[in-house]
Amino acid sequence: MLTGVQVVLAGGDARQLEVIRRLTELDASVTIAGFDRLDMPFPGVVKAEWSPDILAEADALLLPAVGTEDDGTVSAVFTDREMKLTDAHLSALPKSSKIYCGMAKPFLRKLCEKHHTDLVELFERDDVAIYNSIPTAEGAVMMAIQNTDITIHGSQCMVLGLGRTGLTLARTLQGLGAKIKAGVRREDSFARAFEMGFEPFYMPDLARQSGNIDLLFNTIPTMIVTAQVIAQLPLRACIIDLASKPGGTDFRFAEKRGIKALLAPGLPGIVAPKTAGRIIANSLTQIILEDKGQRGSAP
Ligand code: NAP
Repeated sequence: MLTGVQVVLAGGDARQLEVIRRLTELDASVTIAGFDRLDMPFPGVVKAEWSPDILAEADALLLPAVGTEDDGTVSAVFTDREMKLTDAHLSALPKSSKIYCGMAKPFLRKLCEKHHTDLVELFERDDVAIYNSIPTAEGAVMMAIQNTDITIHGSQCMVLGLGRTGLTLARTLQGLGAKIKAGVRREDSFARAFEMGFEPFYMPDLARQSGNIDLLFNTIPTMIVTAQVIAQLPLRACIIDLASKPGGTDFRFAEKRGIKALLAPGLPGIVAPKTAGRIIANSLTQIILEDKGQRGSAP
């Protein structure tokens, strides 16, 4: 239980509702800011104006999945008011408290460093990234269906990067009956791809492997689907780039060549906000419980 633990949620989207629900179930004291348009009743939860004062007793401050923008803006879909995280907020936080978000931009990292405040980036944790890969793969499948006129079954798919997202996605596509080419850079990844029934290749061979692809999914967060690669793709190909912004695709060249290329960030929050919220809630509460010497469970 989180009895006596004070958590402040600042901004965010529908995912935060699951977090509020879970925290109240565990008896935490919850204050929310940036939710003035939220009608849903959460008994015991305090709605407050976003100000440093509400952080004075906080054990944890949860920011949206993206943390803050690079000017400190905290995105908040349940309010029209602008919210910013400033020095004043961090000065007001007790030194023992932690700030949580999905992924932090340099602004937030620097602000936390300056104030010696612990910053926890939940999406960096292996367990969270693997749980998140499930709605991400489903979102990628949704985008593939929406943007092609063929079935995934029987299609020739390419997945670049067999990390936490790529592996789940490749297996999901395979389960739908696609043929999978998997681009990797390590021998163990090559062996794993072979074991799973994919057709593995090493990244330097990417352009040569691209000739007969219907769907190309990239999960590698660096420029990898270059003009040289795109030049080899058939015109019917569709590129779905899942890597964090700005993605790993030369979008300008894809457009010039008439190949559909889509950057698809934040899929869990779009296709499954409830599940994505549970993943955040579970990870957040698990960390707080671990700090208290207790243990949580899977989402
Ligand atoms: P990950 O587990 O670290 O996987 C990244 C993969 O890329 C690894 O297999 C890595 O290879 C490979 N890689 C990295 N640099 C490479 C290079 N220069 N050449 C060849 N391969 C390279 O990360 P993840 O959790 O799967 O996330 C992947 C990306 O998707 C991230 O940018 C993440 O932010 C993003 N993401 C997007 C969504 C969405 O909704 N669009 C959701 C979740 C994650 P090694 O294994 O050899 O290191």
